[in-house]
Amino acid sequence: MNQFKDYFLGVKKDMKRAASSQKCLRTGDLDNVGRTPYHHSFFEMLGNFSFGDYFKKEAIEWAFDLLTQCFKIPSERLRFSVHRDDAEAYNIWRDHIKVPESRIKKLGDHSNFWPADAPQLGPNGPCGPCSEIFYDQGADVGCGKPECGVDCDCGRFAEIWNLVFTQFDRKDRGELVALAAKNIDTGAGLERVACILQGKRSNFEIDTLRPLVDFIWHESGNPVSELTGSSLIVSRTIVDHLRAATFCIADGVIPSNEGRGYVVRKLIRRAVWQGRKYLFARKKPAPVLHLLTGQVVRVMRDPYPYLQSDEARISMTIRGEEERFLQTLEEGQRILDEVIKKAAAKNERRISGEDIFRLYDTYGFPGELTVEIAGEHQLGVDEEGFQSLLEAQRARAKKASKIADAIFVATETNPKLQQLLPSEFLGYQGLDAEGQVLFAEIQGNEGWVVLDKTPFYGEKGGQVGDKGILSWNGGEAEVLDTQVKNKLVMHRIRILKGHIRESDKVLARVDVNLRDSTRRHHTATHLLQAALRQVLGSHVRQLGSLVSPDKLRFDFSHPSPLKDNEIREVEDFVNKAVLLNLEVKTDIKSFEESQKAGALAFFGEKYEDEVRILNVGNGLSVELCRGTHVSKTGDIGAFFITSESSIASGTRRIEAVAGMAALDYLRSVRQKLEGAAGLLKVSPDEILERIDKLQQKIKTLEKGGAAKGPVVDVDSLIKTAVTLSGLNAVVHELKDADLSSLRSLSDQVRTKLKGESVCALFSVSDGAVSFVVTSSTVRIDAGALTKKIAALLEGSGGGKKDFAQGGSKNTGKVDAAKKQIPQLLQEFLAQPARK
Ligand SMILES: [Zn+2]
Ligand SMILES: [Zn+2]
Repeated sequence: MNQFKDYFLGVKKDMKRAASSQKCLRTGDLDNVGRTPYHHSFFEMLGNFSFGDYFKKEAIEWAFDLLTQCFKIPSERLRFSVHRDDAEAYNIWRDHIKVPESRIKKLGDHSNFWPADAPQLGPNGPCGPCSEIFYDQGADVGCGKPECGVDCDCGRFAEIWNLVFTQFDRKDRGELVALAAKNIDTGAGLERVACILQGKRSNFEIDTLRPLVDFIWHESGNPVSELTGSSLIVSRTIVDHLRAATFCIADGVIPSNEGRGYVVRKLIRRAVWQGRKYLFARKKPAPVLHLLTGQVVRVMRDPYPYLQSDEARISMTIRGEEERFLQTLEEGQRILDEVIKKAAAKNERRISGEDIFRLYDTYGFPGELTVEIAGEHQLGVDEEGFQSLLEAQRARAKKASKIADAIFVATETNPKLQQLLPSEFLGYQGLDAEGQVLFAEIQGNEGWVVLDKTPFYGEKGGQVGDKGILSWNGGEAEVLDTQVKNKLVMHRIRILKGHIRESDKVLARVDVNLRDSTRRHHTATHLLQAALRQVLGSHVRQLGSLVSPDKLRFDFSHPSPLKDNEIREVEDFVNKAVLLNLEVKTDIKSFEESQKAGALAFFGEKYEDEVRILNVGNGLSVELCRGTHVSKTGDIGAFFITSESSIASGTRRIEAVAGMAALDYLRSVRQKLEGAAGLLKVSPDEILERIDKLQQKIKTLEKGGAAKGPVVDVDSLIKTAVTLSGLNAVVHELKDADLSSLRSLSDQVRTKLKGESVCALFSVSDGAVSFVVTSSTVRIDAGALTKKIAALLEGSGGGKKDFAQGGSKNTGKVDAAKKQIPQLLQEFLAQPARK
């Protein structure tokens, strides 16, 4: 009901009733998924709502009508619960709907109040009793006990619809005050309704889920007859998690270690882990679950066509996660095995918190897996120790003032803040304005302030919040950050002088330089998106962005790294738009009109009914956006892409700079270039030439010093010697050596090599091969051998009995000649020595 909050609170009044069908993600209870017939992490929820319009009687009557008249569920199959103090609801069921008393059950605050137990435990705010409708699956299902009823957890009675009657405002100490405007908020799980209408006993048997379970089981290669018990539970869990992940990724969430990204990562990892353990244990670890994406798309594409156009990216993202996690598992498992072995050796009964934390922190091995694997080895774990290390790490990471955070979080329930009307934002027109303090909560010298009107932009849509100054009679405060919560613009301030009180008049001044830099980056972000769609194609979809005074960051869908020429084309597109000094216009329209006009909407972002359309250059870029922008593209100044990288499979990230930040970037590049030129003692223009020469020099040095030829380590040459009939032979080819270095080297070999020896060294350089042969034995005539080698090389050569040399232009025969040498030596050895 989140999207209707303003209607429930009476802030918005343009709608009195609503009915919805929406995607839901709930990950608080993952352990039950797959084990029960009804738990899902992702599901579709049907609801109807009344904002101070119809109430209990209509809500009950219509729910009953829909189930019995439209869905044709026999009314004797239905059971009902009401809150024990809600006589009104009880009487409607009994007297108006004519349900026998035996089918209506009165229950307490835990099951039939929303939020559960709110009268005793809170929170304060709107709340009320509920009435639930159940489907009786029959006496053959469940515990069979005579007292079995809708409050029994045996599964016989399936909850299909919860009607919440929001009629109270809870105050401190559990006091319930009647609300003037009473609301209705109902919810029915689509999968549950389908399960009943399709005559199934489990949601996983319905037409949108069963084919997925069959698919993953088929992929596992296990016999169909084994799809029962834990195999069935795991298959269902995997299907549930992958379906959830598919929708999350399609809606723009990228797996990561934080926030909603972590939820998706956790779902995929749970599925991979359970799959490895139960379904694919006999197979080599390989990503396979991403194949389910295609199946989810096929089943769900009619109501959600955007899944299909994004299928490749979703599947790639999941595949990337699988690969990474399989690797983590392998590495973590190895280390965990050692930890377990050590624990066993020391006779310890549990794994320390430090070890679990190290696995988690260094190797990304999830703590819950360590617990599970340790359990398989009958080992306990120090979960408390692990949690406290985790907490300590989080606390370290969290630099922001805790008090400020607490106040910010408390806006949701702070009654004073709840009553405030949305702040009026004046920051499109100007950068300073007078405002009145409606709320101030300061502890020490820091805190949050809300004004009735403000030029400060609160962080949203990727654009960071403004900074600046608040001043008032006798005081001044620095605005460190601006956030938006429940449509209130909240200024996080540090008092520099004086005190700030509610109802004070203040002058709010935004830091002009920072705001100007931010505006440049924001309009540049829009042009960047237009450029990417132009250069790479219309599949490019924004998946996230950050617009700050120093830089912009833009995440988008694209399967491969950008080529150099693509980056240049994108930069050119933006810079040309800057040079044309195009007009930037905004227009307020209804959301539907804006979509007809082709404005790009960022999926997953919630848009108001009235949207602000930002149009750059009369249609060059048309996007919905509430951010602050330049008025003409020329204001952006230069634009440069500073980096392009991958953040997940199929998702690229570009960082870029505009305006003064672009100038700073260029200056720092120039400075580095000049620094390098100084070190090399050349002008910047000559750097490349100089580096090229230096590299050649390094190569030569690595091969062996002076340009004359290589100084090859003689000892390592000697090690290559082979023995033939008591004779040590060294046959070797050197790179780029001239004749004189071959000669000196072969001399050293002859001196150092013990016993009778022959050494033949070759070198190819400048398109010719030279070689030398030395012999320390009368059994081999170096000159004669050289002639034979020269013949093989189709060249010439000759010399004395102990030393000879030769050469040839035929460099292609060197290998063959070298291979022939042992053969030639054998022939010489077979002949009697010539005197
Ligand atoms: Zn029961
Ligand atoms: Zn924007």
